[in-house]
Amino acid sequence: MNIPSNKPYWTEKEKRNILDALERGKISGDGYYTERVAALLEDNFGARKVLMTTSGTHALEMAAMLIGLEPEDEVIMPSFTFASTANAVLLNGAKPVFVEVKQESLNVDSIDIERKITEKTKAIIPVHYAGVACDMDRIMAIALNHNLKVIEDAAQGVNAKYRGKYLGTIADFGCYSFHGTKNYICGEGGALLVNQENTQIIEKAEVMRQKGTDRWLFSRGDVNKYNWIDTGSSYSPSDLLMAVLLAQLENMQEITEKRKAVYKVYRNAFEPYERRGILKIMKIPQECDPNYHIFWVIFNTQEIRDFVLKEFNRKGVAASFHYLPLHSSPMGKKMGYKPCDLPVTEKAAKCLLRLPIYSGMTESELHYVIQNVETIIGAL
Ligand SMILES: *Cc1c(COP(=O)(O)O)cnc(C)c1O
Repeated sequence: MNIPSNKPYWTEKEKRNILDALERGKISGDGYYTERVAALLEDNFGARKVLMTTSGTHALEMAAMLIGLEPEDEVIMPSFTFASTANAVLLNGAKPVFVEVKQESLNVDSIDIERKITEKTKAIIPVHYAGVACDMDRIMAIALNHNLKVIEDAAQGVNAKYRGKYLGTIADFGCYSFHGTKNYICGEGGALLVNQENTQIIEKAEVMRQKGTDRWLFSRGDVNKYNWIDTGSSYSPSDLLMAVLLAQLENMQEITEKRKAVYKVYRNAFEPYERRGILKIMKIPQECDPNYHIFWVIFNTQEIRDFVLKEFNRKGVAASFHYLPLHSSPMGKKMGYKPCDLPVTEKAAKCLLRLPIYSGMTESELHYVIQNVETIIGAL
């Protein structure tokens, strides 16, 4: 049997919406479906302003521009993340400063954040890894104390909560991804959440997203011709993609429940091995409602992890690992980091194992994975 690491969960609705979008005839940005998706996210998550983007990466880039980064500025972020988090800062001429994660959640360690704040620190980008929230109370308090901006990289955190608040709506800005590997998808897509009552910032974001023009006023009928008024780029996604996304978001709870069911079976299957000290299972703090984006465990050594990974893959189960930490990647080394600078991150990346998790996983697929957990890990 072959079990992929993830798989899209489609209903008839996605297909119906695509056909409808084609028939409406306006498949460029900011059409009917884009407006509906943004409204759905604003209403469901209580976000002040949602701007749909072409990717999570672009949402991060916009947020980095909107906080007005300058060349000497430093932005604190975990090394254990995807390259996009750091690129957003580098593309604005500023410097990413990498900090440690906590082993039990692989979320950014707020003690290390405080340690690495300097005169030049301008912002913090916490990454909600696996759809489990960072310690946002602590991070927001640190930011307030040091007058820093906070951008949530909630690319994996859509529809997950922290103390009842949706991830992405807590800090100054939030960034979502709807990339094909995430929970709710449209192939490539994202959203920027502006969580401030500051209409100037919201307008700046609208202009930036529409090639530096006031097209958004034109669309509203407020002006009869749109003008170039600032710098910007092309960040609004095709309405075809938003048609797919609307269907996904309307099925959001169903998609989440199905992932949760897989997660629970995994948890039960792995608990005996955790009790025997063979591995540790990801922890979900009391104050977090996750979206079950990733199920991960961590082994004691890289040798064991690599062995287990190879065995799963040999049996057709696409268990996997990530990230190659940013600080120890070729680019991180060019920036002057050494692998030993962040030992917790380095060790976690070498010992982590992810199991396949997707909404359409059948009983027999799940059973097959669990059988392999028992034969592979049970034999260690
Ligand atoms: C997926 C992801 C991104 C990038 O999102 P895209 O939509 O693929 O551009 C950024 N940060 C994290 C943590 C991610 O997991």
